[in-house]
Amino acid sequence: MTTLLTAREAPPRYLPNDPRPSLIGLTRQALAEAMGRVGVPEKQRRMRAGQVWHWIYHRGVTAFAEMTNIAGELRQRLDETFVIGRPEIVSEQISADGTRKWLLRLSPDERGARHEIETVYIPEEDRGTLCISSQVGCTLTCTFCHTGTQKLVRNLTAGEIAAQVMTARDRVKDWPRDIEANANPPLGGRYITNIVLMGMGEPLYNFDNVKDAIDIISDGEGLSLSKRRITLSTSGVVPEIPRAGAEIGSMLAISLHATTDEIRNRLVPLNKKYPIEELLGACRQYPGLSNARRITFEYVMLKGINDSAADAKRLVQLLKGIPAKVNLIPFNPWPGTQYECSDWETIEAFAEVLNRAGYASPVRTPRGRDIMAACGQLKSESQKLRARERMALEAGA
Ligand code: SAH
Ligand code: SF4
Repeated sequence: MTTLLTAREAPPRYLPNDPRPSLIGLTRQALAEAMGRVGVPEKQRRMRAGQVWHWIYHRGVTAFAEMTNIAGELRQRLDETFVIGRPEIVSEQISADGTRKWLLRLSPDERGARHEIETVYIPEEDRGTLCISSQVGCTLTCTFCHTGTQKLVRNLTAGEIAAQVMTARDRVKDWPRDIEANANPPLGGRYITNIVLMGMGEPLYNFDNVKDAIDIISDGEGLSLSKRRITLSTSGVVPEIPRAGAEIGSMLAISLHATTDEIRNRLVPLNKKYPIEELLGACRQYPGLSNARRITFEYVMLKGINDSAADAKRLVQLLKGIPAKVNLIPFNPWPGTQYECSDWETIEAFAEVLNRAGYASPVRTPRGRDIMAACGQLKSESQKLRARERMALEAGA
């Protein structure tokens, strides 16, 4: 069962062409500077920024009028100068298994273009994972990934990355005030417990914005999701991995997908620049690794390409000495792809080799298939959806 929320039902909370900049995405330092723009004297800026921060990221307010511990006059000046922008929700789809996918339309960029991105929420028994995007499209061209075929690419701003989390909190009613009012609150007091940067884009090609966004998302006085529950997935941008360890400090996932350079060159062309050995070398150096803090290796199961018993054994050899877990991802097919997903028995046999070698290797069960919410599918379905939606609206008009 799929429900669709059209743009009409979810009006944007701000005017699409509003010239006022959004405060979302500013670091604490930048937020204090922004207070200067509305006449807050230097000595009070940090304090005011702290108050505004609390309202925006802890309370989740969307209007300055709600910031009741700030004088009316200052609230008015803030409102004249800034917005607390959220992206426009073009559609919300809810899968029969509870997975939700949002198509979000961003504010116009400097060229006036309004791009769209997707964010997915996957509820499970013991956790709720939000999969967020770091770019519109992706400059890389992994041959099994739908996003990689998308032409339009731009980096998301820190605000656009953080706002995906805020929009999801709005929609699943996950702000502290919602939870307090919830007669049947989720275990642990939250619906969204984990964040993965596994949507559209290569996060390490948008390093600074991703770093700022993760700082915001993990800030204890705000959205407050610990960095241990935030996982950055990279296709293997080796030179940025040490920086990610030193400056971002989230958990790391590596899209390995193959055990020989020959096959990985075909699947992840970036491998020609940064081959497997260099990639695993960078993983070995990643700070803070232990059995309790492992690197996740993602491995998409492609029939007849990378799924043999020899591959499984080579994988065990490659990972030796790295605190690792392996995520076997059944390939999610998309229209026009040259690949097929491995048979179930093959996947199980592959997982068995890993398990015997001591690697927990859960097979990621496909979620939200009915709404095309799975990894690597975040792309053109949204365009189709919009066409369908437009037709429906026109028919109803
Ligand atoms: N660019 C980053 C993060 C986004 S992709 C990266 O590549 O790691 C998130 C994960 O989805 C990656 O492991 C990616 O390889 C995988 N993926 C992409 N297309 C897929 C598909 N069609 N089926 C299954 N997994 C896919
Ligand atoms: Fe980009 Fe990741 Fe897709 Fe490769 S798998 S094209 S890096 S989004």
